[in-house]
Amino acid sequence: MEDYVAESTESMCAEHPTDEHLRGALASSVVLGLCVLCGQSGRQVVSLHVVARTTLAAVQRKFDHWGFIPDEEQFMPEVTFAEIVESVLVAAVDDDFRLDISAKVVELVRFDRPWYEAYDEDAEAGTYFSWRDFEYRVKHQSRLLLPPVGERAVTPPEESYVLARSMVDFVSANDTFVRRLSPGTLLYRARTGRDVRDLERRVRAAPKAEMGPPPAHAASAARLSAAGMPMFYTALTPETACEEVASHSPYDECVVATFTVEQPLRVLDLTAIPEPMSLFDEEYTSGAGRLRDFEFYRDRMTDAFAADDSQAMEYLPSQLLTEAFRWWTAPRIHGIAYSSVAGAGGKNIALFFEDWEWIEEVGREFYRFGAPSKPTSPMPDEFEDRPVFTVDAASVTRYEVTRTVSAARTNP
Ligand SMILES: [Zn+2]
Repeated sequence: MEDYVAESTESMCAEHPTDEHLRGALASSVVLGLCVLCGQSGRQVVSLHVVARTTLAAVQRKFDHWGFIPDEEQFMPEVTFAEIVESVLVAAVDDDFRLDISAKVVELVRFDRPWYEAYDEDAEAGTYFSWRDFEYRVKHQSRLLLPPVGERAVTPPEESYVLARSMVDFVSANDTFVRRLSPGTLLYRARTGRDVRDLERRVRAAPKAEMGPPPAHAASAARLSAAGMPMFYTALTPETACEEVASHSPYDECVVATFTVEQPLRVLDLTAIPEPMSLFDEEYTSGAGRLRDFEFYRDRMTDAFAADDSQAMEYLPSQLLTEAFRWWTAPRIHGIAYSSVAGAGGKNIALFFEDWEWIEEVGREFYRFGAPSKPTSPMPDEFEDRPVFTVDAASVTRYEVTRTVSAARTNP
């Protein structure tokens, strides 16, 4: 038997729904009448039949009757239609009437099949393979990203472009991903070495040179920047800065310097969690698919890699995507915030400032353009002719790192 929605003579106020997509879907059915929920007459109302039909359409964007059966056994838990309807309406209707509306919808919709959260195996696999292919191409075939010349991507540079572009477009269309760093924001950098006390003295004497971005010729490959392309890697807390540094070194003490943001910055926040899309939005299915792709790619960008000879190559995909974010976003972003792999819960911000000309030491004379050998300055015009960051020698401190290693048997 097909699912079907019973006719109903009852109506409810058109203003009880709060979700704009649900309101939009009901708008063409609004008439004057009596609301069975609040009992008022002469109201703008919609038939409960239309409400039930619209809700069922929303339910079917996320739930189906098949679930996921990888091995003759249902993998997804069965959910009752009442539970589903309540979950769908929870953010979509006035809370005072939610239970009543849910009950009316459940009463009107008939079906005799079980419901499961939909699991699209092909889409999941598609996401995985598209990333796997991207990684292979940029590691082993080509590091170019080229817009397709013909109707579709054919060459490796064209295929890589399409993936990078989709990721940039997704975050560009979603305000949640842009995080503003207002003047006064504190950022932390840490360094370590065999003789931490000597390092501390040197950092105090010249915090900008010792703790600013490394000189271009000495910049090693990192998660978001290739060898020879320095970036200003910072963390939001001194602890996170130390944990990141300690994870790449055998030393247990770090020197930390605090940088103050002096001019407003925009960074792409890969740790941001966008608002969930409304199931009443007809674009839900494609939107949820883009979000799934984005989250998968982002997690791969911030995966931990062993610090061995292959690391430089393993970082290539995230380095290339970083360049896409850096040069293709409009308005231009100034860096990328991402979750710390070494420090659980911590956040790092890699800033696109490749030398110290934009950093001033508190109480010391400002010497701009200490690196005149660059062909052009990639800094946008939006900055005023004063430092973007300051660092105070008095902020330099030491932190101790505690390491824990544990082991567990992996075979039964
Ligand atoms: Zn009403």
